[in-house]
Amino acid sequence: MSNMAAGKENEKTGAATPETEAAVTTDFIRAIIDADLQSDKYGGRVHTRFPPEPNGYLHIGHAKSICLNFGIAEDYGGKYNLRFDDTNPTKEEEEYIQSIIKDVYWLGFDWEDRLFFASDYFEQMYEYAVQLIEAGKAYVDDLSAEEIRAYRGTLTKPGQNSPYRERPVAENLDLFKRMRAGEFVDGSCVLRAKIDMASPNLNMRDPVIYRILHASHPRTGDAWCIYPMYDFAHGLGDSIEGITHSICTLEFEAHRPLYDWFLDELGIYHPQQIEFARLNLTYTVMSKRKLLLLVQRGDVSGWDDPRMPTLSGLRRRGCPPEAIRAFSGRIGVAKSNSTVDVAFLEHCIRQDLNERAPRVMAVLEPLKVVIDNYPEGQVEEFEADNHPQKPEMGTRQVPFSRELYIERADFMEEPPRKYFRLAPGREVRLKHAYYITCVDVVRDEQGAVVELHCTYDPESRGGATPDGRKVRGTLHWVSAEHALDAEVRLYEHLFTKENPYEVEEGEDFTANLNPNSLQTLTSCKVEPSLARAAPGSRYQFMRQGYFCLDPVDSAGGALAFNRTVSMRDTWAKIQRAQRRKA
Ligand code: ATP
Ligand code: MG
Repeated sequence: MSNMAAGKENEKTGAATPETEAAVTTDFIRAIIDADLQSDKYGGRVHTRFPPEPNGYLHIGHAKSICLNFGIAEDYGGKYNLRFDDTNPTKEEEEYIQSIIKDVYWLGFDWEDRLFFASDYFEQMYEYAVQLIEAGKAYVDDLSAEEIRAYRGTLTKPGQNSPYRERPVAENLDLFKRMRAGEFVDGSCVLRAKIDMASPNLNMRDPVIYRILHASHPRTGDAWCIYPMYDFAHGLGDSIEGITHSICTLEFEAHRPLYDWFLDELGIYHPQQIEFARLNLTYTVMSKRKLLLLVQRGDVSGWDDPRMPTLSGLRRRGCPPEAIRAFSGRIGVAKSNSTVDVAFLEHCIRQDLNERAPRVMAVLEPLKVVIDNYPEGQVEEFEADNHPQKPEMGTRQVPFSRELYIERADFMEEPPRKYFRLAPGREVRLKHAYYITCVDVVRDEQGAVVELHCTYDPESRGGATPDGRKVRGTLHWVSAEHALDAEVRLYEHLFTKENPYEVEEGEDFTANLNPNSLQTLTSCKVEPSLARAAPGSRYQFMRQGYFCLDPVDSAGGALAFNRTVSMRDTWAKIQRAQRRKA
């Protein structure tokens, strides 16, 4: 049983959450493959593929499919192909092809020389279509698209045969040849499989397999003006490539009999199709069409906006590919659709970054602090560890001087109980440096606090005093003179509702866009070591979360950081609460 299936309902969100910490090592798909290996169905081969349509950027749902398809091949010592199902030139673009290649590679998979395109097989597919016509299994239909729809029937009513269904083979061959030659305008006729207009499976009611489309294709240019339909091309592509296990999402279950029909009628190699449940995430839409709409409407800055569930967005936000692979493994695979709590994705990202991200100090909303008894002009360097548990990650120097910045939220004039940070008369520890005590507060005309005066205890260098005196709060800080200016972007979910499709009458999912999903802080101060940060590099800003130097906006040397995740682990908290209840 998969983790997902075993997962409990999350009481707060109603979403399923995976239960175990361990990666899933077996599932129903691997069980099928094991059985096929036992029975020697494919001569010991395991060969999978990931077949994206290049009509948008990849999202985290695709990552699940990639990790599953390619992960299985890797586990079994098999092979995997990256194949573009590029059968619809009106929606497909070279930009999408390039982005998909980049994203799959970034996830850590290498398809070696097995990058394919369905369009590479157009000639072969045409031959297959001719073969079906010759066998009396396909015909050219002059009905319009609307008529075809009307003749199709419904789930409860059988369809009707087209008046062109009984065209002689020779006439069909001639017409199909002339379709290819460009003699007809778009929509004037189609090639249909001749199966069964009364089939309870609507996919089997003489589906269209070729249509006329005078459109330039990103790869084949103007070589073709007829294009195979996805349902015709997809299974043939798998067959041509010798795929053993065609793993796809549940919505293709009802298409499987059609794919089987094509392969059987043509008498060609037959892969095994296996369906699994697609990934859904709370507070997220996961469809290229919907994501494209957000890009087109300008709700986000592009496909790679850090709030998008796209791989390019997640990358720009700072999510490591290893975290996505871990997430994909831990959610498991199931046969029924469910929704994963996005807090679990964030949990996986946080766990990964906790291991690998160097710690630095950054003040997001600065409040000036003057240390009255610290000599003017003096600068000390403190050696700070980059990772408290990993000495191998080394140390860096952090300058300290008379004027510092601390976080505005780390000071309160009238602190409530359990507030252990700075307050008038209160002593706190500055991380890696000294103890300081607040002695005075400076205000502007409106009465707002603009500066604090403190004293420091020179004996407390390094964070402890000879008398062993205890302080409850430890603050991060930067030296005012040495700090670098930075911009920081904080994110909330892109949608306000767990299920963005839950809308009032007459609205669509965009009604649930979160107006506060992006908050930009422009006067942040970060420690000087970050001058050496490479675009795309990731850090833990102590007490503030994990951040990534934006690879696009920091190209010119400016510092713009995106918060990947905060320190707060909502998912772990939910799990703890569940365990307490159990
Ligand atoms: P979308 O619905 O987002 O437009 P799609 O299924 O049309 O996606 P394709 O390019 O056809 O996109 O998908 C390539 C592969 O990725 C398919 O095998 C599909 O089953 C799989 N896939 C797409 N979305 C998900 C998802 N949310 N979870 C798991 N696999 C997915
Ligand atoms: Mg699709």
